[in-house]
Amino acid sequence: MAQDVIVIGAGVVGVSVALELIRQGLSVRVIDREGVAAQASMGNAGAFAFTDIVPLATPGIMRKAPRWLLDPLGPLSVPPRYALKIAPWMLQFWRASWRDRYEHSLKAQTTLNGLAREALGRQIAATDGERLIRREGQMQLFEGEREFQASQEAWDLRRAHGIEFELLENAGAIAEIQPGIDPRFTHAGYTPQWMNTVDPKTWVEHLAQAFVTQGGVIETGDVYALENTADGVSLKITDGEINARKVVVACGAWSHHLARTVGDRIPLETERGYNTTLPAGAFDLRTHLTFGGHGFVVSKINDGVRVGGAVELGGLKLAPNYKRADILLNKAAQFLPGLKTEGGKQWMGFRPSMPDSLPVIGASERAGNVIYAFGHGHLGLTQSAATAELVASIVKDKVASISMTPYAPTRF
Ligand SMILES: Cc1cc2nc3c(=O)[nH]c(=O)nc-3n(C[C@H](O)[C@H](O)[C@H](O)COP(=O)(O)OP(=O)(O)OC[C@H]3O[C@@H](n4cnc5c(N)ncnc54)[C@H](O)[C@@H]3O)c2cc1C
Repeated sequence: MAQDVIVIGAGVVGVSVALELIRQGLSVRVIDREGVAAQASMGNAGAFAFTDIVPLATPGIMRKAPRWLLDPLGPLSVPPRYALKIAPWMLQFWRASWRDRYEHSLKAQTTLNGLAREALGRQIAATDGERLIRREGQMQLFEGEREFQASQEAWDLRRAHGIEFELLENAGAIAEIQPGIDPRFTHAGYTPQWMNTVDPKTWVEHLAQAFVTQGGVIETGDVYALENTADGVSLKITDGEINARKVVVACGAWSHHLARTVGDRIPLETERGYNTTLPAGAFDLRTHLTFGGHGFVVSKINDGVRVGGAVELGGLKLAPNYKRADILLNKAAQFLPGLKTEGGKQWMGFRPSMPDSLPVIGASERAGNVIYAFGHGHLGLTQSAATAELVASIVKDKVASISMTPYAPTRF
């Protein structure tokens, strides 16, 4: 008998979706070519960044971008060998930065992040997951008055959208929350609602365990195509074919490859990100730190510290350039003079990114039993529990708790 639902991809999005579907009484199987939390969901910064509502494509960004791109190891880069390939996506990114589209995306991101916070609360309670959560907020740091003033629009937007925050305008107030920051950072914004997991990989493994405990099955398999059938979907895998009534594509940065096999062309690209995880004792970190002007964050992972960020628009195939991780770590050592930088482990991950910073959550128009759940960019961990609830309403033909139009696969 065909499975009710097969979820392809065992990252945080796929596993969250599978868990919600089995909780709602469906028979569910997860297939991943590598295993649980093998890609972006393994090594990210571990933040539930509900207060990050501003899309990347802001009005005027295309004027600033060339300046950033001039520095090949700066926070935003395009390797020359990928420049032509990324051009169509960049064009859509530029369109997404037009004032009306940006405002539309901002509203949709705010709505989804609001749901994400509530849905994560439900997920933590349902899986007894509080021991894997940190509630220590986040501090965004600014190097001087000018940089702080330039951030005012974003704070005004957060205020307008009901997001709690505190602005700190001297080094003393900053040190009360996080001692040990270089005094060049004179201003900060503190968002107490921000949450972290102790380790993103452990978090997905925890969700996967909850899924298996409820009778779910996780298998290894490489799905290379999908095909509509009379009563569902056929999945072509390396050693055969399996059938399901419905399929959820949650393959992160690789999802558009499967969408293409049912005729959907979705402009998914990857923003590659880099980090270094330092061992226990590297720094006494008391909150998640964001150095926005330098494109990186510092977060606590288990007893260690992870320093990472950067955006490299370099596709899925080019070899990683770990100089980026080195540069971020060097900067972190300047900004946190007590940081011990020895013994770190470097990592590169593929953020699955859409031009408008919004994920794709919805059924395929061409193959109605294929449901997409990907493209969460910088916010895949943050929005995973919300995505799971939304996908469950699509699978069960129920009205979703928020309007799904902004996330439609057909919006481009
Ligand atoms: C440096 C960095 C820091 C980040 N920090 C944060 C953060 O603090 N907070 C946050 O919310 N987000 C953060 N992100 C983004 C976040 O990591 C991603 O948005 C999220 O992990 C995406 O999850 P996913 O399940 O969609 O994809 P993935 O975790 O990439 O999982 C996709 C899975 O699909 C499988 N797969 C792909 N194709 C196939 C196929 N054909 N057949 C079978 N299996 C397949 C892969 O093996 C993989 O396991 C960060 C990302 C990076 C790179």
